[in-house]
Amino acid sequence: MSTETQAETRGFETEAKQLLHLMIHSLYSNKEIFLRELISNASDAADKLRFEGLSSPELFENDSDLRINIDFDSDKNTISISDNGIGMTRDEVISHLGTIAKSGTAQFLESLTGDQQKDSQLIGQFGVGFYSAFIVADEVEVLTRKAGTEVSEATLWRSKGEADYSIEIAEKSTRGTVVTLHLKNDESGFAEAYRLRGIVKKYADHISIPVMMEKQEVPTTLDENEKDQTKDAEEKDVATEYEAVNDAKALWTKPRKDVKANEYKEFYKHVSHDFEDPLNWSHNKVEGKLEYTSLLYLPSRAPYDLWNRDAARGLKLFVQRVFIMDDAEQFLPLYLRFIKGVVDSNDISLNVSREILQKDPVVDSMRAALTKRALDMLGKLSKKKNGDDYANFWKEFGQVLKEGPAEDFVNKEKIAKLFRFTTTKSDVGNEDQSLEAYVSRMKEGQEKIFYIVSESEAAARTSPHLEIFKKKGIEVVLMHERIDEWLMSHMQEFDGKKFQDVSRGELDLGKLDDEEDKKLQEKNEKELEGLVKRIQKCLSEKVKEVRVTHRLTDSPACLAVDEHDMGSQMRKIMEASGQTVPETKPIFEINPDHPLMVKLDTESDEDRFSDLVAILFGQASIADNGQLDDPGDFSARLNKLLLELSN
Ligand code: ADP
Repeated sequence: MSTETQAETRGFETEAKQLLHLMIHSLYSNKEIFLRELISNASDAADKLRFEGLSSPELFENDSDLRINIDFDSDKNTISISDNGIGMTRDEVISHLGTIAKSGTAQFLESLTGDQQKDSQLIGQFGVGFYSAFIVADEVEVLTRKAGTEVSEATLWRSKGEADYSIEIAEKSTRGTVVTLHLKNDESGFAEAYRLRGIVKKYADHISIPVMMEKQEVPTTLDENEKDQTKDAEEKDVATEYEAVNDAKALWTKPRKDVKANEYKEFYKHVSHDFEDPLNWSHNKVEGKLEYTSLLYLPSRAPYDLWNRDAARGLKLFVQRVFIMDDAEQFLPLYLRFIKGVVDSNDISLNVSREILQKDPVVDSMRAALTKRALDMLGKLSKKKNGDDYANFWKEFGQVLKEGPAEDFVNKEKIAKLFRFTTTKSDVGNEDQSLEAYVSRMKEGQEKIFYIVSESEAAARTSPHLEIFKKKGIEVVLMHERIDEWLMSHMQEFDGKKFQDVSRGELDLGKLDDEEDKKLQEKNEKELEGLVKRIQKCLSEKVKEVRVTHRLTDSPACLAVDEHDMGSQMRKIMEASGQTVPETKPIFEINPDHPLMVKLDTESDEDRFSDLVAILFGQASIADNGQLDDPGDFSARLNKLLLELSN
């Protein structure tokens, strides 16, 4: 016996009520998008049926004319959106329509700002598309039957958009889904032909199957007599005549010149389920050995799950106009996972699977070409003179792009051109923060690109390692993102210039040092040999080496990393991920010109000498990574000196 024939009431999953309320509230100023979302779902359902129909043609039930119908009844104040797509089983209805925002609800609620405009953009990301119906409706009914099932196996879902919904078994003669909206009293204006047509034109012109509405009468050509007949005919309920309101042509198949910016934008929202406009797009038709069309989009905002490696990513794959799969991730590398769009190939087989895609050499060539396209699209955006689109892109996705050099050796230089960094030359515009711009500003005789990696921009800017560079007016790139040290371990050079971490190894300014500087340094080193040895004895446990440096002008001392040792930032990342990192010791470098060093050299009291050295070493540690090995010892020694001072 089945209890399923009776209506059953079920609760929505977690936080649904709150979410619906918020959504209705934040999308209030853009209510009409409910229709865009429902048409988008209906179109996806048609795509899925066409795909399934490739291997099981009987699913078409002798009706392969896929379409969407929009009807309204202004007396009853309803609108319905019907499709003859794949439909849903009872279980699918429960899992797809009974779970709001699926995996992300809690996260979503946390990320809300209270700012209507921002929140409405966020809502799109969480795929609450269907629920946008409740912006205008106070009750929604979904009658659906999965293709290939019996007429009596349909499902009727109903909800007032509050805490629960009801579900029952129903009959439906045709496969597919009808979504009926019972409009709120003050939204009755939507149940009107002219308005609905306008919305369909605006948001669904790019949908590749026809969106049909009842043919409009042309009253002026009718005389009174005929009008009466029409009325009679209507009352007898003759089959309504429909006509397509939209263009009904897959957007990417059209020539670029025939597609308006606005159409590209709406199509983006359909494929990406994003509510916001894209930053940029690139539409290309490739002919020759391989034939395919691609339409790549650059979103304007990072999705909440950008850093989740398992999150869905990839392009929507079509083969000869037939939808094959969502999230085909084989067409772009991981570091471009934020790119959305479609690819339509003539060379891939219609019954391709994810496994086959992985091994197909055709896919490899397409991936290489699409990667170039995507990078070119970014390159173009970065050269755009007006506006801050590229700065926005960099803010949202720059950290992901930094994974590029490690993943994509071939395009390393191209990717590096897209990077932006602050440098010691402040107040430069976004474009001036590129490595190309840095190179163009390099001083005469400068052969390397100097950079420093630090915990924060402030720590980078005030690092003692920059002193000599400031003095000589040499620009240094300031890196302070988590990923930067790792990134730089994959970047040896740019534009033929080697990268040099200014806190690593012995400072070598090459031609930037004149002969006199060099002579002076050698002299200093000789003179301070004794001091270096004494300090070395004090710090033998803590440092690898003590040496005289000329990179300092103001600070008495600093720490440097040995050429091939791991830096402190990388060490922290590795330790945080639970890996054991081999112990390495820093190099303690002293400034021969600093009065403290001069004083230290003449200090004959060994206790005092070791106090001073410990304090200098502590200071250098703080400047290097903000930490002290033994803060207690440091304070005790410092206080001892302070006391002596005040005596
Ligand atoms: P999204 O479309 O972003 O996945 P929605 O809330 O709009 O989120 O829809 C949830 C799911 O419900 C869809 O992914 C789809 O599986 C199913 N669905 C919605 N509308 C239809 C429809 N007209 N036909 C078949 N399935 C549908």
